[in-house]
Parts: sequence; structure tokens; C-alpha cells
Amino acid sequence: MGALTIAKLGNPILRKAAEVVDPDRILSRTFQQFIDDMFDTMRQNDGIGLAAPQVSRSEQLVVMECQGNEGFVQTVLINPKIVFYGPQQVEMWEGCLSVDGLRGKVTRPSMIRVQALDRDGVDQDFEADGLYGVCIQHEMDHLIGKVFLDRMTDMSTLTQLEEFTAYWQKEPTTVI
Ligand code: ZN
Repeated sequence: MGALTIAKLGNPILRKAAEVVDPDRILSRTFQQFIDDMFDTMRQNDGIGLAAPQVSRSEQLVVMECQGNEGFVQTVLINPKIVFYGPQQVEMWEGCLSVDGLRGKVTRPSMIRVQALDRDGVDQDFEADGLYGVCIQHEMDHLIGKVFLDRMTDMSTLTQLEEFTAYWQKEPTTVI
């Protein structure tokens, strides 16, 4: 039990497509423990989402949790698929536990419909928008070897964390 090491940008595992999880393994003690370790690692690093390739396990597993206003409940996505994208786009600042100290603006579909297994191996089918929807898309990108930098269309928004706090943090989110 405890914190896992986070793979940082440049680690080849972040660029690999993750393997499908065998549903028969989900309820095993080792897999359940791995999920708990991922939550511990995410919380210790003040993250709101973490994908298994970020802790050097090339598997289709994502954990997410966010307190506060725009927050969302504890979420585990196993073998997730986005089956629908809404017509509107949303522009949000993103950062990543694998990319130290940087924030950048990314435009993504504002609403998605997701199908995945939960940590009990049960089918989930739900819609997500706002920060939740963006976070799911960010984490699912990790499962296909992508990071948010690849999704940026305007690299001039790439910002070091201190300057982000000073100049950009209070900027409202725009739906396009
Ligand atoms: Zn990330």
C-alpha cells in the first residue's frame, strides 16, 4: 500500500497505448489494491485524476476525484470508451502530474457519454460535462499515449505554474 512513482514526460510508457484489462482480474486483491494505491498517489500529489500508464502500468484504468465547487465524486474507469461527443467545445486550463509545473489551454468537446466498468466490474454508462468531462478526456488520452500538450492548439498559452497563479488562474472557463 502507498504511493507509486509517477512517470514523467519523456518516459516511453506515457507514449504507449494501454492494454485492455481482463474483467476477470478486476475483483482480485492485487488489482483492488492497485486501485487504492493509485488513489493514494493521486491525492498525495494533489491531482484530480491519474491513469495507470502514469504509474508505469500500461493498462486501461483511470481514477479521479475532485473536492470543491466544480468537484466530482470518486470515479474508477476500467476499459473506458467515449461513445458520444456533444456539439459544443470548452476551453480549459490543464495540467498533468506527468508534466511538472506547466499549465496550458486545451479545447475539447464540452459533453461526452462514457461507457466503462467500475471497480466492482459493473457496467457504467453516463454523461459528463464541465471539469468532470474534461478530466475524463485528459485521463483517457493517457490510455492512448497522449498528453495534454499534444491537444494544445495555441502553444502561446503554455504557462509556468507561478505565472499561471499570478496571471491566469482566475480567468473564467469559456464554452465555445
Ligand atoms: Zn495527465
